[in-house]
Amino acid sequence: MRDPRYDILFEPVQIGPLTAKNRFFQVPHCNGMGKAYPRTLAAMRAMKAEGGWAIVSTEEAEIHPGNDFSPMNEFRVWNEQDLPAMMRVAQGIREHGALAAVQLAHTGARDGNLYSRMAPMSVGHNVIEGIYPTQARAVDHDDIARILDWQRAATKLAVQAGFQVIYVRADFGASLASEFASRATNTRTDEYGGSLENRLRFMRQMLEATREAGGPGIAVATRFSLDMPYDGTGASDPDEIMDCIRMMDPYVDLWDLNICNWDEDSMPSRFGEEGHQEELLTRIRKATSKPVAGVGRFTSADLMVSQVKRGAMDLIGAARPSIADPFIPNKISEGRIEDIRECIGCNMCVTGDFLSVPSRCTQNPTFGEEWRRGWHPEQVPDKASDDNILIVGGGPAGLECALTLGRRGYNVTLAEGGTELGGRVSAEAALPGFGAWGRVRDYRTYQLSQMPNVDVYLDSALDAEQILEFGFERVVLATGAIWDSAATGRLAHAPWQVGDGVAVLTPDDVTRGAKITGPVLVYDDDHYYMASAVAQKLRDAGHEVTIVTPASDVSAFSENTLEQGWIERRLHESGVAIVEKHQLVSLADGKAQIAHIQSERGQEIAAQSAVIVTARKPRDTLYDDLMADPEKLVEAGITSVTRIGDCEVPSTIAAAVYSGHRVARRIEDFDPYALDFLREDVEGADDYAPN
Ligand code: ADP
Ligand code: SF4
Repeated sequence: MRDPRYDILFEPVQIGPLTAKNRFFQVPHCNGMGKAYPRTLAAMRAMKAEGGWAIVSTEEAEIHPGNDFSPMNEFRVWNEQDLPAMMRVAQGIREHGALAAVQLAHTGARDGNLYSRMAPMSVGHNVIEGIYPTQARAVDHDDIARILDWQRAATKLAVQAGFQVIYVRADFGASLASEFASRATNTRTDEYGGSLENRLRFMRQMLEATREAGGPGIAVATRFSLDMPYDGTGASDPDEIMDCIRMMDPYVDLWDLNICNWDEDSMPSRFGEEGHQEELLTRIRKATSKPVAGVGRFTSADLMVSQVKRGAMDLIGAARPSIADPFIPNKISEGRIEDIRECIGCNMCVTGDFLSVPSRCTQNPTFGEEWRRGWHPEQVPDKASDDNILIVGGGPAGLECALTLGRRGYNVTLAEGGTELGGRVSAEAALPGFGAWGRVRDYRTYQLSQMPNVDVYLDSALDAEQILEFGFERVVLATGAIWDSAATGRLAHAPWQVGDGVAVLTPDDVTRGAKITGPVLVYDDDHYYMASAVAQKLRDAGHEVTIVTPASDVSAFSENTLEQGWIERRLHESGVAIVEKHQLVSLADGKAQIAHIQSERGQEIAAQSAVIVTARKPRDTLYDDLMADPEKLVEAGITSVTRIGDCEVPSTIAAAVYSGHRVARRIEDFDPYALDFLREDVEGADDYAPN
């Protein structure tokens, strides 16, 4: 039964000629699937619709090869060849009673047409974003007419495929429309430059072209930025943004408003709270009489209600929360708040876009697996036997495995050697800014506590002898991994010398609260978050801290999670010194010798302690002990011993959760290297003859 407090979230919202059945809107989000994995994409979107979202949108969609987003895998609406994939997505969404939206986009100078090799176009003669050495040329009047034609054609195709809400993308940094609108990028002297009316002319024409081509049955949506930089200094002018919205309001049925750039919009939880856009949204939305969608990593139904009541938004926009739990609307509606698998704001999902592979989610292991493995986030197959299953280790892998096996109906015993559950997640959630990551543990421990067929034992470190005596038919080892202070990392492969006078430590020592004397060197040849988090913790404790990394940037991989800029800013602000492109040579006598990775020129840094963040080694002795004597296993009645998570191979938390889930789905005949998923091939690619 739904709590009446949440009724407001289930009120219908009129959007132009259409009615959204409730206020839940899965706004456009990238996924690394796009044009390259159309079935994967369609099943993922359909799952959101099944979960109760009123509107489900595609990610940004290319309207023509004249603006192609390669190497990113985004949606494609070039011509009829794209129709089968488009129809699959639109129909999958509509089958579950949601409105299907498509985010048509021309991204101006953001993209360099690396696949189509046509000349990129922008509002002016601008360089293309990133480091690819090409430019875009300024559009002339013929080009503008051409792009409007592209938008019309793409709209018609989208309607033919079944899409009902059609976007004109106009947010800053990602659209030609905003290049025209912003004083920072538009220096034109024709009727498209100068006054605000002139600068908005292109956006208005795009909106009009969309409505004209889409006909009376569609709703026209636009994504627009709440904080577009309006002058050369990059400062935002909220009054001018409100003027933009007032002037465009007659042409728009739905405003999808957010802060730019992407790293502020999809704010990592380490650096920003849920609902962080409220203040700006509440102010700026006053300029429109049309429905407004806002985002903010919303997973709390109470916060959603309060933002609607306070007038920040009409529609609860969500990308990441809908990935972590596609069934949030239904769960709120059914009074199952405690079953919501809350997004942790780690942005692992974003990496799929940057790396051009289907995205993965730390919290939801079924994300991206809906089609190829037929995984449903809310359904698991019934157990296939009465086997009793022992899981050793209560980190993310062990917890997810226990949960999924428990849902399948198996009798499960989870033994954890420590005094609390969560493994690495509990340790890492205590690092500065990482509190929300504890949700990986909290969601699962709560669910497990509701299961009579799962027994959890703490303080129960097991050895092989004990396991052989217990009488379980199946054993799963989720014993994790530990950081290794002797291991070399990803970029610098030469080992370093260690003498007396420097305490050599690992991140595990730091999270365990080991006593540390400064100054401290943190050596980052891991390149994800750990070195920066350890450095921050030690700096907060008053130590003098220097991070040395062979990479060009500290926490370089975190570019892919939109965290790198935030990390570097925070470290600088708190006084952590950063030395890039240097590798560790030796540690002795309170000093570290480091050398430039190319010139090898040396440098000396004061270091009473050094925290080495390079690699982890699996905690797999238990596995080796059990596997050492197969006959003993047979005698003990054990039919399978399976390693999962970091114990199999140290990786991300997302990988550990996935590993635990995958084994649990088919523990009866699990083969880690089975090709047991469907593969994509692009529909129609062979038989289509372009004119
Ligand atoms: P993963 O990410 O693969 O889940 P973690 O390192 O987070 O791995 O968690 C592993 C968990 O396993 C830790 O909580 C650790 O205390 C526990 N563990 C390790 N060895 C044993 C053992 N022999 N018996 C019981 N628990 C163990
Ligand atoms: Fe949220 Fe992380 Fe999942 Fe993305 S990967 S949806 S940020 S939990």
